[in-house]
Amino acid sequence: MDPKTMLIVMVVAFGVFTWSALKRWRLLTVGAAIDRFDQIGERIKVALKIAIFQKKMPKYRTMGLIHIAIFWGFLALLLNTVILWGRGFDEGFNLWILGDNPLGHAYHFVKDVFSGVVLVAALLALINRVVVRPARFTLSFEATLILLIISTMMVADLAYWGWQQIETGQTGFVAGEPLASVSASLLGQLDRSTAALVGTVGFWTHSVLVLIFMNLLPYGKHFHVITAIPNVFLTSLDPKGRLPKDENIEKVLRDEEDEDEEEEPVFGVAEVQHFHWKDILDMFSCTECGRCTDNCPAAKTQKPLKPKTFLTAVRDHLYLRHEELTSEPQKSRPLIPVIVDPEVVWNCTTCRACEEECPVMISYVDKFVRLRRDLVESRGEPPAELATALRGIETNANPWNLSPMDRDGWTEGLEVPAFDADECEYLLFTGCMASFDDRAKKISRSLTQLLNQAGVSYGYLGSDEPCCGETARRAGSESNFRMIADMNIETFKELGVKKIITGCPHCFNTFKNEYPEFDGQFEVLHHTELLADLVAQGKLSPTERIEQRVVFHDGCYLGRYNDIYDAPRQLLARIPGLEVAEITQSKERGLCCGGGGARFFMEESGDRINGLRVSELVSAQPKSIASACPYCMTMLSDGLKDKDLFDDKGQLDVAELLAISCGLTDRKLLKQG
Ligand code: SF4
Ligand code: SF4
Repeated sequence: MDPKTMLIVMVVAFGVFTWSALKRWRLLTVGAAIDRFDQIGERIKVALKIAIFQKKMPKYRTMGLIHIAIFWGFLALLLNTVILWGRGFDEGFNLWILGDNPLGHAYHFVKDVFSGVVLVAALLALINRVVVRPARFTLSFEATLILLIISTMMVADLAYWGWQQIETGQTGFVAGEPLASVSASLLGQLDRSTAALVGTVGFWTHSVLVLIFMNLLPYGKHFHVITAIPNVFLTSLDPKGRLPKDENIEKVLRDEEDEDEEEEPVFGVAEVQHFHWKDILDMFSCTECGRCTDNCPAAKTQKPLKPKTFLTAVRDHLYLRHEELTSEPQKSRPLIPVIVDPEVVWNCTTCRACEEECPVMISYVDKFVRLRRDLVESRGEPPAELATALRGIETNANPWNLSPMDRDGWTEGLEVPAFDADECEYLLFTGCMASFDDRAKKISRSLTQLLNQAGVSYGYLGSDEPCCGETARRAGSESNFRMIADMNIETFKELGVKKIITGCPHCFNTFKNEYPEFDGQFEVLHHTELLADLVAQGKLSPTERIEQRVVFHDGCYLGRYNDIYDAPRQLLARIPGLEVAEITQSKERGLCCGGGGARFFMEESGDRINGLRVSELVSAQPKSIASACPYCMTMLSDGLKDKDLFDDKGQLDVAELLAISCGLTDRKLLKQG
């Protein structure tokens, strides 16, 4: 080997790489500030689980295992590359720890096996990309080139180590390096000088291709090779259901506006540099695997929103603006509508399916909501239907703008105690949907009948019950939400509320995960959790048979946001006669009903998400669909109606099924036949 050549190659390669990396680093620093260096222990755990042990990869079994093989192979082969670079300067170079000792022998075996594993995995990935072409992938020259580079590197490596066996006089099968041994026996068919030439070419090919590979990384999707582990380490450790605050809105609310500031404060994200630096790291880290889009209800129903396309478009815009963003003065270039279509922003149901799937923990919901904040808070441009709902929340504490006096209409003929902290353990919070919607009111009725039967100590605020503010927050009306949250927290504290029970996963998530950030700490239970507990304690006895096959629909804010998958299933399992079917698209992979993220109050164009969800659910051939969210109930009922299935198939909340089985609610809710 020629040390001078190796020195020149390495200096040039590392010099160019450092220049590229610094360029990307400067771009990262244009993002807004955010603290992601807290809870280091927890961050290490997440990074180990998700990035090192690749927990999410096997969700797509074949490609996931292929990726794991390549990732682990790369880790194992890192030291091998260092040894090769060292041998460019000194042919006998070895890392002392990997010399002629048990550790060195073990490493050479592992490295040898991984060369073969990575070669096979890269070839399979290549076939998948070029021949199979799954819809979630975009056929890209860069991805194909990188896979070819990886395959060539592995072949070159085996050629080099095969020649090393010949040169060091190792003959026959060498169990410590089985694949290099096969390579040696092939090279043994050649004359010695040709075999030596092949070995030397193998050496330089591997050593130089690694450096070329390294220099390609910052310019394409394979940048994730460098950024994915830090990106996972720096992920948000807040509860999944908590949206970030808007510091400028917080300032306005605290009356802390800076009078010296010449420019108007920015609410949400209007331009790319308003994203946090961690959002920019997300953009660097996207592997473009398309898992997000593959699971997105909007993309599945041919809406303009395709999460991967959104993120890569914003990233490309960021790269294009590199010079301008890293110097002064900067021109104003709003993201909406030139880079991001507003329809894309409003298409999101905030279901979190994309985030659940993403192998490198890229977040989407907070990005879309911050873009909505720009549209609503700064520009005053929510969709017309949503503007009406937001006005209703502001004026009458419900999105339909109905009289608050009618809020407790569902209690007619029922015994529902008023809340009194001295006598009540729980505040029953029904939420807007289960207070005003005629069908959903029956959930509230069944729930109170069950609570009464079990002797639960609870109370209700009646027509004084407020809106929790969830719809306003997901719609981007952050200042509206913040005022509602402050007011509710103050009221609850004054009333002495300690525990809240609700049948609405949206209210549940808001009270449990968002109010604590504004000093509203309450113990919050979804009705399925409390009811499952009451049944387990024998305080509720479901004895009446319901001879039906049902399938359970996991609402996003109950399941993916709050990991409540078991309680509703436990309840259904306790009802005699009920046969509970599961479909593959359930739990973490359950499709949204289409009503989350304030989408319930917006028009939907094209194929309907609830229609798609109903098709999935009825594939289990149930008589009824069970759910545990009043919004899901309405969306799914509408889906059944659209498909002319409503007369045949029922749609019930688990509390209603339980109340029927406990002999408390009329069986008429069940579809017969
Ligand atoms: S949150 Fe749901 S609707 Fe929004 S982008 Fe992600 S998968 Fe699509
Ligand atoms: S955001 Fe995540 S899931 Fe989507 S393409 Fe990028 S890496 Fe894959």
